Amino acid sequence: MSGKVYLIGAGPGDPELLTLKAHRLLSQADVVLYDRLVGQQIIEMIPEQAEKLYVGKAKSLHTLPQEDINVLLGKKAQEGKTVVRLKGGDPFIFGRGGEELEELVEEGIPFEVVPGVTAAAGCAAYAGIPLTHRDYAQSVRFLTGHLKDGTTELPWDELVHPSQTLVIYMGLTGIESISQSLIQFGMPPTMPVAVVEKGTSKDQRVFTSTITSISDVVRDNDVKSPALLIIGEVVTLQEKLSWYGK
Ligand code: SAH
Repeated sequence: MSGKVYLIGAGPGDPELLTLKAHRLLSQADVVLYDRLVGQQIIEMIPEQAEKLYVGKAKSLHTLPQEDINVLLGKKAQEGKTVVRLKGGDPFIFGRGGEELEELVEEGIPFEVVPGVTAAAGCAAYAGIPLTHRDYAQSVRFLTGHLKDGTTELPWDELVHPSQTLVIYMGLTGIESISQSLIQFGMPPTMPVAVVEKGTSKDQRVFTSTITSISDVVRDNDVKSPALLIIGEVVTLQEKLSWYGK
Protein backbone atom coordinates (compact mmCIF):
# COMPACT_ATOMS: atom_id res chain seq x y z
CA MET A 1 0.00 0.00 0.00
CA SER A 2 1.17 3.49 -0.77
CA GLY A 3 2.31 5.73 2.05
CA LYS A 4 1.68 9.43 2.17
CA VAL A 5 3.68 12.60 1.71
CA TYR A 6 3.31 15.51 4.11
CA LEU A 7 4.59 18.78 2.71
CA ILE A 8 5.28 20.77 5.84
CA GLY A 9 6.31 24.36 6.47
CA ALA A 10 8.93 24.45 9.22
CA GLY A 11 8.87 28.21 9.76
CA PRO A 12 11.85 30.55 9.50
CA GLY A 13 14.09 29.17 12.26
CA ASP A 14 12.80 29.40 15.82
CA PRO A 15 11.61 25.83 16.54
CA GLU A 16 8.73 27.15 18.64
CA LEU A 17 7.22 28.58 15.46
CA LEU A 18 6.48 25.06 14.21
CA THR A 19 2.77 24.37 14.22
CA LEU A 20 1.43 21.64 16.50
CA LYS A 21 0.43 19.72 13.39
CA ALA A 22 3.92 19.95 11.90
CA HIS A 23 5.38 18.77 15.19
CA ARG A 24 3.02 15.80 15.44
CA LEU A 25 3.58 14.66 11.85
CA LEU A 26 7.33 15.02 12.18
CA SER A 27 7.30 12.71 15.18
CA GLN A 28 5.47 10.06 13.09
CA ALA A 29 7.72 10.23 10.02
CA ASP A 30 9.56 7.26 8.51
CA VAL A 31 11.51 9.47 6.10
CA VAL A 32 12.26 13.20 6.32
CA LEU A 33 13.62 15.27 3.43
CA TYR A 34 14.86 18.71 4.42
CA ASP A 35 17.02 21.50 3.07
CA ARG A 36 19.32 24.27 4.18
CA LEU A 37 16.61 26.65 5.36
CA VAL A 38 15.25 24.31 8.02
CA GLY A 39 16.62 25.32 11.43
CA GLN A 40 19.12 23.00 13.12
CA GLN A 41 16.97 22.67 16.25
CA ILE A 42 14.09 21.47 14.10
CA ILE A 43 16.29 18.88 12.40
CA GLU A 44 17.19 17.61 15.86
CA MET A 45 13.48 16.90 16.47
CA ILE A 46 13.41 14.30 13.69
CA PRO A 47 12.88 10.88 15.32
CA GLU A 48 16.06 8.85 15.64
CA GLN A 49 14.71 5.88 13.71
CA ALA A 50 13.57 8.02 10.76
CA GLU A 51 15.65 8.18 7.61
CA LYS A 52 17.01 11.73 7.25
CA LEU A 53 17.74 12.98 3.75
CA TYR A 54 19.41 16.34 3.20
CA VAL A 55 18.44 17.54 -0.24
CA GLY A 56 20.27 20.86 -0.20
CA LYS A 57 19.19 23.98 -1.94
CA ALA A 58 19.41 25.36 -5.45
CA LYS A 59 22.62 27.34 -4.96
CA SER A 60 24.50 24.73 -2.95
CA LEU A 61 26.97 22.23 -4.32
CA HIS A 62 25.49 19.23 -2.56
CA THR A 63 22.18 19.71 -4.14
CA LEU A 64 19.70 17.28 -5.51
CA PRO A 65 18.05 18.71 -8.63
CA GLN A 66 14.42 19.62 -8.05
CA GLU A 67 13.22 16.88 -10.42
CA ASP A 68 15.12 14.26 -8.40
CA ILE A 69 13.55 15.49 -5.16
CA ASN A 70 10.12 15.23 -6.74
CA VAL A 71 10.83 11.66 -7.84
CA LEU A 72 12.39 10.66 -4.52
CA LEU A 73 9.31 11.83 -2.58
CA GLY A 74 7.12 9.59 -4.76
CA LYS A 75 9.48 6.64 -4.54
CA LYS A 76 9.63 6.67 -0.73
CA ALA A 77 5.85 6.96 -0.47
CA GLN A 78 5.40 4.03 -2.87
CA GLU A 79 7.46 1.93 -0.46
CA GLY A 80 4.59 2.49 1.98
CA LYS A 81 6.42 5.08 4.08
CA THR A 82 5.17 8.17 5.84
CA VAL A 83 7.26 10.82 4.16
CA VAL A 84 7.74 14.32 5.53
CA ARG A 85 9.07 16.97 3.19
CA LEU A 86 10.17 19.82 5.46
CA LYS A 87 10.47 23.26 3.91
CA GLY A 88 11.75 26.47 5.44
CA GLY A 89 8.94 28.96 6.07
CA ASP A 90 5.76 28.13 4.21
CA PRO A 91 5.82 25.51 1.43
CA PHE A 92 3.65 27.56 -0.93
CA ILE A 93 5.58 30.83 -0.65
CA PHE A 94 8.69 30.68 -2.83
CA GLY A 95 9.04 27.08 -1.73
CA ARG A 96 8.43 25.12 -4.93
CA GLY A 97 5.82 23.18 -2.99
CA GLY A 98 3.52 23.26 -5.99
CA GLU A 99 6.12 21.61 -8.22
CA GLU A 100 6.65 18.78 -5.76
CA LEU A 101 2.94 18.13 -5.43
CA GLU A 102 2.33 18.06 -9.19
CA GLU A 103 4.62 15.07 -9.45
CA LEU A 104 2.75 13.29 -6.65
CA VAL A 105 -0.59 13.95 -8.34
CA GLU A 106 0.74 12.39 -11.53
CA GLU A 107 1.81 9.31 -9.63
CA GLY A 108 -1.45 9.13 -7.67
CA ILE A 109 0.28 9.42 -4.30
CA PRO A 110 -1.76 10.90 -1.43
CA PHE A 111 -0.46 14.01 0.28
CA GLU A 112 -1.28 16.77 2.74
CA VAL A 113 0.09 20.30 3.05
CA VAL A 114 0.82 21.95 6.38
CA PRO A 115 1.35 25.71 6.23
CA GLY A 116 4.23 27.34 8.05
CA VAL A 117 5.21 30.79 9.27
CA THR A 118 6.71 32.39 6.20
CA ALA A 119 9.93 34.40 6.51
CA ALA A 120 8.05 37.68 5.98
CA ALA A 121 5.79 37.09 8.97
CA GLY A 122 8.54 35.66 11.18
CA CYS A 123 11.17 38.27 10.38
CA ALA A 124 8.72 41.15 10.65
CA ALA A 125 7.47 40.00 14.05
CA TYR A 126 10.94 39.33 15.50
CA ALA A 127 12.37 42.55 14.07
CA GLY A 128 9.49 44.72 15.32
CA ILE A 129 8.23 45.80 11.90
CA PRO A 130 4.46 45.53 11.39
CA LEU A 131 4.00 44.83 7.69
CA THR A 132 0.82 46.84 7.60
CA HIS A 133 -0.12 49.78 9.82
CA ARG A 134 -3.06 52.11 9.45
CA ASP A 135 -0.78 55.14 9.26
CA TYR A 136 1.81 53.75 6.84
CA ALA A 137 0.81 50.77 4.73
CA GLN A 138 -2.50 49.30 3.61
CA SER A 139 -1.00 46.52 1.55
CA VAL A 140 2.03 44.28 1.50
CA ARG A 141 3.65 42.52 -1.43
CA PHE A 142 5.86 39.46 -1.29
CA LEU A 143 8.37 39.30 -4.14
CA THR A 144 11.34 37.26 -5.16
CA GLY A 145 14.55 39.06 -6.03
CA HIS A 146 15.79 36.03 -7.93
CA LEU A 147 13.80 34.91 -10.92
CA LYS A 148 13.98 31.50 -12.57
CA ASP A 149 16.02 32.90 -15.46
CA GLY A 150 18.55 34.45 -13.03
CA THR A 151 17.48 38.08 -13.59
CA THR A 152 15.80 40.47 -11.14
CA GLU A 153 13.34 42.05 -13.54
CA LEU A 154 10.38 42.96 -11.37
CA PRO A 155 7.28 45.03 -12.24
CA TRP A 156 9.01 48.17 -10.92
CA ASP A 157 6.27 50.65 -11.72
CA GLU A 158 3.78 48.67 -9.63
CA LEU A 159 6.21 48.47 -6.73
CA VAL A 160 6.75 52.18 -6.36
CA HIS A 161 3.50 52.94 -4.65
CA PRO A 162 2.71 54.86 -1.47
CA SER A 163 1.25 52.98 1.48
CA GLN A 164 2.63 49.65 0.31
CA THR A 165 5.22 47.49 2.04
CA LEU A 166 7.51 45.39 -0.12
CA VAL A 167 9.03 42.20 1.22
CA ILE A 168 11.73 40.77 -1.00
CA TYR A 169 12.82 37.17 -0.59
CA MET A 170 16.15 36.09 -2.12
CA GLY A 171 17.01 39.73 -2.66
CA LEU A 172 20.44 39.87 -1.05
CA THR A 173 22.57 39.22 -4.13
CA GLY A 174 20.59 41.65 -6.24
CA ILE A 175 20.17 44.34 -3.59
CA GLU A 176 22.15 46.97 -5.42
CA SER A 177 20.30 46.66 -8.70
CA ILE A 178 16.94 46.31 -6.93
CA SER A 179 17.54 49.57 -5.02
CA GLN A 180 18.69 51.38 -8.15
CA SER A 181 15.66 50.26 -10.14
CA LEU A 182 13.23 51.33 -7.41
CA ILE A 183 14.81 54.79 -7.24
CA GLN A 184 14.81 55.02 -11.00
CA PHE A 185 11.09 54.28 -11.05
CA GLY A 186 10.40 57.04 -8.56
CA MET A 187 10.86 55.64 -5.07
CA PRO A 188 12.02 58.43 -2.73
CA PRO A 189 15.76 57.92 -2.08
CA THR A 190 15.06 58.27 1.66
CA MET A 191 12.62 55.33 1.71
CA PRO A 192 13.34 53.23 4.83
CA VAL A 193 14.59 49.67 4.31
CA ALA A 194 15.36 46.86 6.73
CA VAL A 195 17.44 43.77 6.15
CA VAL A 196 16.77 40.86 8.48
CA GLU A 197 19.47 38.18 8.52
CA LYS A 198 18.66 34.71 9.91
CA GLY A 199 15.36 36.02 11.23
CA THR A 200 13.84 34.42 14.37
CA SER A 201 17.03 32.47 15.08
CA LYS A 202 19.37 33.22 17.97
CA ASP A 203 21.73 34.80 15.43
CA GLN A 204 19.19 37.22 13.99
CA ARG A 205 20.61 40.59 12.92
CA VAL A 206 18.54 43.56 11.76
CA PHE A 207 19.91 46.54 9.87
CA THR A 208 17.89 49.57 8.84
CA SER A 209 18.81 52.27 6.37
CA THR A 210 17.43 53.98 3.28
CA ILE A 211 16.96 52.58 -0.19
CA THR A 212 19.97 54.68 -1.26
CA SER A 213 22.38 53.30 1.33
CA ILE A 214 21.14 49.80 2.12
CA SER A 215 23.51 48.00 -0.24
CA ASP A 216 26.50 49.69 1.48
CA VAL A 217 25.13 48.66 4.87
CA VAL A 218 24.79 45.07 3.67
CA ARG A 219 28.34 45.05 2.35
CA ASP A 220 29.88 46.77 5.40
CA ASN A 221 28.23 44.33 7.79
CA ASP A 222 28.87 41.29 5.64
CA VAL A 223 25.21 40.26 5.70
CA LYS A 224 24.76 36.65 4.65
CA SER A 225 21.89 34.55 3.35
CA PRO A 226 19.17 33.89 4.39
CA ALA A 227 18.18 37.51 4.55
CA LEU A 228 14.95 39.30 3.85
CA LEU A 229 14.44 42.89 2.65
CA ILE A 230 11.54 44.94 3.98
CA ILE A 231 10.96 48.23 2.18
CA GLY A 232 8.45 50.86 3.27
CA GLU A 233 7.50 53.50 5.82
CA VAL A 234 6.63 50.78 8.36
CA VAL A 235 10.38 50.27 8.85
CA THR A 236 10.49 53.56 10.79
CA LEU A 237 8.67 51.76 13.63
CA GLN A 238 11.45 49.21 14.06
CA GLU A 239 13.45 51.08 16.65
CA LYS A 240 10.41 51.63 18.85
CA LEU A 241 8.93 48.14 18.49
CA SER A 242 11.95 45.87 18.48
CA TRP A 243 11.92 43.38 21.36
CA TYR A 244 13.76 40.23 20.32
CA GLY A 245 17.09 39.65 22.03
CA LYS A 246 16.49 42.50 24.48
N1 SAH B 1 9.34 29.15 1.71
C1 SAH B 1 10.17 30.11 2.42
C2 SAH B 1 10.96 30.99 1.48
C3 SAH B 1 12.01 30.25 0.66
S1 SAH B 1 12.89 31.31 -0.40
C4 SAH B 1 9.29 30.95 3.34
O1 SAH B 1 8.06 30.91 3.25
O2 SAH B 1 9.85 31.67 4.16
C5 SAH B 1 14.34 31.60 0.52
C6 SAH B 1 14.42 33.04 0.97
O3 SAH B 1 13.55 33.24 2.08
C7 SAH B 1 15.77 33.46 1.48
O4 SAH B 1 16.63 33.81 0.42
C8 SAH B 1 15.43 34.65 2.34
O5 SAH B 1 15.19 35.78 1.56
C9 SAH B 1 14.10 34.21 2.94
N2 SAH B 1 14.27 33.60 4.28
C10 SAH B 1 13.94 32.37 4.64
N3 SAH B 1 14.19 32.17 5.95
C11 SAH B 1 14.70 33.33 6.42
C12 SAH B 1 15.16 33.77 7.68
N4 SAH B 1 15.15 32.96 8.75
N5 SAH B 1 15.63 35.03 7.80
C13 SAH B 1 15.64 35.86 6.74
N6 SAH B 1 15.22 35.51 5.52
C14 SAH B 1 14.75 34.26 5.35
